Amino acid sequence: MKIEDFFRDVPNFPKEGILFKDITPLLLNPKATQFCLDSLTNSLIEKKIDKVIGVESRGFFFGILMAQKLNAGFVPVRKPKKLPYKTISASYALEYGTDSLEIHVDAIQPGDKVLIHDDVLATGGTAEAVCKLVEQLGGEIVQVNFLMELSFLNGREKLAEKDIFAAVTY
Ligand code: 5GP
Repeated sequence: MKIEDFFRDVPNFPKEGILFKDITPLLLNPKATQFCLDSLTNSLIEKKIDKVIGVESRGFFFGILMAQKLNAGFVPVRKPKKLPYKTISASYALEYGTDSLEIHVDAIQPGDKVLIHDDVLATGGTAEAVCKLVEQLGGEIVQVNFLMELSFLNGREKLAEKDIFAAVTY
């Protein structure tokens, strides 16, 4: 089975000139979803992951599946003002301006082994901000993984010291 057969290119979304990789065809197919879940988690079973982070919002889909499979807790990292309890936040650069992400202060304990997950690694700014949040709370980042990496955008360079895995690389 080829996971990339379940991604679809959508031109001019969310704005003119952008070719968006849509992952929803993968979610429609339970066998492909299971296959992708296995490929994301097989090397991690022995690593005793304590927490899996899913990045809002497309990182939630596989994040929670991975957490269940790895017998780990699931932690949502969200856009500002979505999480109800005390949070810390980290900013990252967008094409125009900045945005930020938040995590609950008690979601990670010092020394926790953490897996960070998002659907797409593009320029790496989002994942870099999430790494900062985890490290600020004392978590140990075991891996940062993605459904796909758009390698021509060089996101890896922002995550240079991290173990990075992508189920599909373009
Ligand atoms: P980065 O911060 O690495 O530039 O962008 C990654 C973030 O933008 C991820 O949270 C991801 O969900 C979103 N993203 C950027 N491009 C795409 C795309 O083509 N398809 C999808 N599904 N998400 C994208």
